[in-house]
Amino acid sequence: MTAPILRRQAPLQKLFCALALSILAVSSAQAAPLVEPTLHLKAEDGSSVGRVALTLDACGGQTDTRILSALVENRIPATIFVTGIWLKRNAAAVEIMRAHPDLFELENHGGHHIPAVDTLRKIYGIRSAGSPEAVQAEVESGAAALAGTGEPAPKWFRGATAEYSPSAIAMIRKLGFKVAGFSINGDGGSLLGAKETARRIAAAKDGDVIIAHINQPTHAAGEGVVQGLLALKAKGLMFVRLDDADGVGNDGTTD
Ligand SMILES: [Zn+2]
Repeated sequence: MTAPILRRQAPLQKLFCALALSILAVSSAQAAPLVEPTLHLKAEDGSSVGRVALTLDACGGQTDTRILSALVENRIPATIFVTGIWLKRNAAAVEIMRAHPDLFELENHGGHHIPAVDTLRKIYGIRSAGSPEAVQAEVESGAAALAGTGEPAPKWFRGATAEYSPSAIAMIRKLGFKVAGFSINGDGGSLLGAKETARRIAAAKDGDVIIAHINQPTHAAGEGVVQGLLALKAKGLMFVRLDDADGVGNDGTTD
């Protein structure tokens, strides 16, 4: 007898819950705006050529072998931010990286590619971790996945979407990681065309930290990444990895 009434109530309850959640998300977002920190290399006395750091995110998906082969063939060092998901599915690429420890430094991009934001919200359509505990789990599971491959313990963390709540940055620092911002968005989340990607990367100057992606083999951006890097190399710029240089970030990411 009561079943029909319950059925009528359920949608209303759902609506109320969704409403309450969205109000919570909006008020949290207002309380703590997200930050997208920058990172630059500290200037080195007496270096005339200029140094840049190439950082490549491996969020999930596959490996862009156009980029990986170009890095190996041209001896271009890079810092690769890998997730636990990507590590599991790309054993062959990981083997190539591990075979060239002079070129590749592997760092922590999280266990499951969940934004390191401790309030409930969506960033570029991806749902945030939503609590301090969930941010911590994302950071620690990423480090554990890397440890499982026999790689040295990561020292840098970059969260999915590269946006953070300030309180999450403070927590990641407490867990022992520096947070890797960037100064040049090379491929616009791997969604830019080849020409624009090449133009942005080729414009890098001394001290810049470039971000691009190495997990989208079907996107045109990957071709632009290779062209941009070769242009920088032709200009005589030196590539360094994050561990080889002093990176200085804002928003409390490195100090
Ligand atoms: Zn990512």
